[in-house]
Amino acid sequence: MNMKKLAIALILSGLSVHTLKAGEPKQFNETVTAADSAIGQRQASVTAADSAIGQRPPKADSVTFNQLLGELAAYPVEGIVAPPVPMPDKTTQSAGKAAERYWITVFASDNHERTKLLEAGMDIVEIKSGKVSGFASKRTLDALSEKGFVVESKITMAQYVQQFGKDFPAADSVYHNYNETVELLETLAANNSDIASLFSIGKTIEGRDIWCLRINSNAKGEEASSKPGAVYIGNHHAREHLSNEVPLLFAAWLFDHKGDADVKKYINSLDIYVIPMLNPDGVEYDIKTGRYQWQRKNMRVNADKSIGVDLNRNYDSWWCEAGASHSTWSDTYCGAKAFSEPESQAVKNFMEARKNLKTHISYHSYAGTVLYPWGGTEEDVADPKDKQTFINIATEMGRLTGYHPEKSSDMYVASGDSCDWAYAAGKIFAFTIELEGSGFYPGAAAITKAVTNNVKAAVYLLSVTDNPYKTIK
Ligand SMILES: [Zn+2]
Repeated sequence: MNMKKLAIALILSGLSVHTLKAGEPKQFNETVTAADSAIGQRQASVTAADSAIGQRPPKADSVTFNQLLGELAAYPVEGIVAPPVPMPDKTTQSAGKAAERYWITVFASDNHERTKLLEAGMDIVEIKSGKVSGFASKRTLDALSEKGFVVESKITMAQYVQQFGKDFPAADSVYHNYNETVELLETLAANNSDIASLFSIGKTIEGRDIWCLRINSNAKGEEASSKPGAVYIGNHHAREHLSNEVPLLFAAWLFDHKGDADVKKYINSLDIYVIPMLNPDGVEYDIKTGRYQWQRKNMRVNADKSIGVDLNRNYDSWWCEAGASHSTWSDTYCGAKAFSEPESQAVKNFMEARKNLKTHISYHSYAGTVLYPWGGTEEDVADPKDKQTFINIATEMGRLTGYHPEKSSDMYVASGDSCDWAYAAGKIFAFTIELEGSGFYPGAAAITKAVTNNVKAAVYLLSVTDNPYKTIK
């Protein structure tokens, strides 16, 4: 049993866990510095036994936001180990040498060039003045040189881990894996049964349930509601583990603060949904060996035996027209057709069945941006009132998080994403928040600040969900 499991076990048994922590749990409104939330060693890998269905501990008597945040942040700095070199992923194994992956930096001056990189199969991770870094297979590298791109630097995945991977621990035990996420959702729903319920919006390609926590003062489960709705979704992309923690802990925060006047008002007047982990198959694959796999896509076995479809290129909004790839081995593979994947189909069904939805955040990592439509075209949204509403809400969420608000396609044009579709199909004011961080595996140090600031932005979104247009003065 590692420290986290021990801490959870103690919480569940009602004992104080203070002796395990570096300090008292942070208050939400305290200033939290990076030094406060030190990275610690994750001692054990996630084993099959840890994640076996049917071995969930009994429901907690109580679990609070501060307990959760304290637990995530309270790891001592000692014995940090470099993560092992990632195992060759299934794509690499099946597609052979051609699918070998690299971390590359390429010269690309604007969003047009970045879009071309995506189309060549590059997985863009970082954008800095005139250059773009990210993952690329050997085939993508060949495609880039054919298109005349200049690759400034290229290292193998093993070298990448050596160079950049030293900050994060060997296993993923600080973060919530799928079963821990489900346990926490069950606990939160059980402890707040007056206002909370839990239901599955569908199953993944490997058959896991995609869980949705609903917060509504008078409607439960899949019952219809005419109250204005907000939905928060995390983990379209598997390796973006912080994007599960943020909506998950936001839900815990709402329950802790359900007696506050403003939160009480939102809970009574709105229909709130939290789907923290849309791609649990990919998440579990990414962490199950205790060695990160840099998995982005879902776990669809494609016709050529390569693995995965990019769920955030699979929605029916300019599907696969720009910034996405028809190549199965690409990290931005858009799938055989729009909504070919059960995970994106589940979101479609969920949103189409709830015409009361007004606002939405889809969490990703990492860029530190608040993005609004369109992402699939460089056009602005046509309705000037909607456009201004998007800008105003993104600007305020940017202020609260410290992130940069911008039109999604200003970063790069990427078609088939969930937010474009949600706005086009349902007139939902849909935002992609690219969380902060310097990598996909930022360790425990990233969690406290990201969660704290994003809770503020998520609460702000609730405050405008009754009528997003009220942000126009
Ligand atoms: Zn993402």
